[in-house]
This record gives sequence, C-alpha cells and structure tokens, in this order.
Amino acid sequence: MLARFRQWRRDRILARAQIDEREWQRALQRFSFTRELGEADRAHLRELTTLFLHEKRFTAAHGLQLTQAMCLHVAVQACTLILDLGLEYYRGWSEIIIYPAEFVPRHQYVDEAGVVHQGDEPYAGEAWLQGPVILSWADIAGSEYPDGVNVVIHEFAHKLDMLNGSANGFPPLHKGMSREVWSQVFSAAYADFCARVDRGEDTEIDPYAAESPGEFFAVLSEVFFELPQTVYYEYPEVYDQLARFYRTTEVIDQSSEVGPIHG
Ligand SMILES: [Zn+2]
Repeated sequence: MLARFRQWRRDRILARAQIDEREWQRALQRFSFTRELGEADRAHLRELTTLFLHEKRFTAAHGLQLTQAMCLHVAVQACTLILDLGLEYYRGWSEIIIYPAEFVPRHQYVDEAGVVHQGDEPYAGEAWLQGPVILSWADIAGSEYPDGVNVVIHEFAHKLDMLNGSANGFPPLHKGMSREVWSQVFSAAYADFCARVDRGEDTEIDPYAAESPGEFFAVLSEVFFELPQTVYYEYPEVYDQLARFYRTTEVIDQSSEVGPIHG
C-alpha cells in the first residue's frame, strides 16, 4: 500500500516537474559517462534527476547566483552514481550547499592528542554524515573533461559510503557480495597505492586517494566513472567490486573502452 502511494506520488512529481528538453540534452552531452548511456538508461536517469531536484534543497552561499542549470549540473552527476541503485541511496539528508569557490570548513576536529583544531585548508567539496553535501562551483563547473577528477562524484560517493556510518571505504554491499572479498581487495589495492605514492610515483589516479580508505573509495569512484579502463587495468579486482556495487557490470563490460589499449 505504502509502495503504491510512493509510486503515485513520484508519478505526480514526474508529470509536473519536467526538465527543459534543451537543458537536459546539454547536461547529457557534458559528461563522458552520460553521453555513452543508451536510451533506456537516459530515460531512467532523467526520472531520477527530476525526483532528485524535487527532493533535495539547493542553497547558494557567499552571494552565488544559483540557476536551474547549475542544480541540474550537480543532479545529473549525482544521479549517475545511483542509476542502478535508486534514490533511496541518498536518504537521510536533503541539502546541497554551493559556494562560488573553495571554502574553509567551519567545523573543528580533535586530533589523537585530544587537541581541538579549527580546519583552515580550503575545500572543493565536503560531505557531512547525515548532513549536507557542500561544493565549490569554481571546482565543479569545469569538471566535464574525463580526467579521473570529479568533485561531485567524489562527494556523492562519500554519501553512499556513509549509509552505514562514517566514510571508511565500506559502503553497504548488495546481496551476493562478500564483505571479506571487498575488504581484502580494497585493503590490498590501498596498501599498494600508498606504497606507490610514497615512492614518488607519478600515478594516473589522484594521490589524494592515499589519504585514507574512505578517500580511496571516493577517488576510485571518480576514476571508475570517468576513466573506467584505468581502474580496470591498475586494480582489476577493485574494478570488479565497484562494478558490482554500482551495478554497472554489463554496461562497462560491453563497452569497447575496456579492452587492450593498443599503441
Ligand atoms: Zn573526500
């Protein structure tokens, strides 16, 4: 009964809150990971994005003039992560705050010695446990080029990770996935990546991934969507786990992008 009511409510929102056709096509063309989607996936992404825009509250900070196109820019990327997961994966929070440029977080943290610090490093994005996602427009506006760096995907991957507590690189897994396998695969890849960064290797994956297992998951998610072949070749078992988690196995495996790189 409740499910039927929810569906009825969603159908009403979808009927009323249409995304402008030209804006939608422009948003789809902007990213490599949305350009490649087939018809059915595009239609599903459009529904999810419409519901996302309806359910989440966008707030501008520091005098930023927020437009519908800017909200769509964030929403279409955020919904790509949950295309095969569902909007419920973004439950428990509702606000997205957008700053014009990098921002200095106002919260404090306590170090191992029990000393309270006020952060003073500027951030391009931040995701709070059961709280808002905060983004810098200057850092997300130019994120179209698929280089494996995407702040929106990064912060929303943290949100998925936080569904079962803090962002520790261990999101809730689906039925049929193994916690042991996930742990082993990610721990081994993380250790290997940290060693490569320590050696000063010039890695294609952003060295920020070596910060913590939580950052490793978020950064590898960025690369998974923007340069899937990089994850596939560098950490094939991580690729497999991410494909299972994001449920993209078929789409990616049939893609000609994943195959031997010639030349
Ligand atoms: Zn992060």
